[in-house]
Amino acid sequence: MRAFDFNRPDDLPSAHAAARDGATFIAGGTNLIDLMKLEVMAPDKLVDISRLGLDRITPRGESLHVGATVTNADLAADMRIRRDYPVLSRALLAGASGQLRNKATTGGNLLQRTRCPYFYDTDTPCNKRSPGAGCAALGGELRDHAILGTSEHCVALHPSDMAVALRALGATVEVEDSEGSRREVALDDFYRLPGDRPDRETTLARGDLITGVILPPPAGGRQSYRKVRDRASYAFALVSIAAIVRMEKGKIGQAALAFGGIGTRPWRDPDVEALLVGEAPSDALFDKAGTELMKNAVLREGLAFKDVLVRRLLTATLREMTQ
Ligand code: SF4
Repeated sequence: MRAFDFNRPDDLPSAHAAARDGATFIAGGTNLIDLMKLEVMAPDKLVDISRLGLDRITPRGESLHVGATVTNADLAADMRIRRDYPVLSRALLAGASGQLRNKATTGGNLLQRTRCPYFYDTDTPCNKRSPGAGCAALGGELRDHAILGTSEHCVALHPSDMAVALRALGATVEVEDSEGSRREVALDDFYRLPGDRPDRETTLARGDLITGVILPPPAGGRQSYRKVRDRASYAFALVSIAAIVRMEKGKIGQAALAFGGIGTRPWRDPDVEALLVGEAPSDALFDKAGTELMKNAVLREGLAFKDVLVRRLLTATLREMTQ
């Protein structure tokens, strides 16, 4: 690991000043420290944001503001989250391990990097690590990679469970730039597709600090997060689904569906939801939704199993939620 400067300010203006000076923010460090040890990332200056008062969950009208340094464990356990946003609580508990959830934060979870093994192996070419270097995954073994939103430059999966639930919920990310000016970015607009610059993963600008996440007023309906993985805990999703479904007089009145394990960003497809709404539930309808979801999937060698898996998971989830 290379030497770096470390600074732990007590207020936001000091953090912004450090950002203007080229510093990288750190909170729980559960991903960044690993990346620094491997020298995949080598920031010269780190600014710890744990003392900025961003560790609270507070109502904002009918919405809920979750501070950027609220830990994943605290967020999952909060009674308001468990009652009104159970899909989020379940997604958080399906991710990582108890120890990691105690340390990992809401903002850090959004910004965690892909687990593509070639990204972590500095002996192999990777466009995400070094733009223009090439992509070892495309000539190598593909399994924990994406089938939607990929490009010829990168097929890396987005790894977060939490972000999948937030996308289904229609959450917004609160951001302050390095001058302290605040804005809100819908999660739908937060993540970029890789295109020819997979190193640019979000729409954040240099020096931007995530200060929180805003959950919209509770959607009601039934909520579920289901995750298929190689082992029962402490594993990333092979495929996952965050689902919010409300039935009206025997038909699907509302369906918000987001998927993990298949996309280069948390995946949501409005055409799939539109196809379901207003219809009576049936396996034929769910099959149609699966086909719609997969219509633009690129099933490179080694990844065809995800097509089958995600369709089955979608059907099983919708069956359960529309009973
Ligand atoms: Fe790098 Fe993306 Fe290729 Fe993985 S898939 S090696 S992250 S460019």
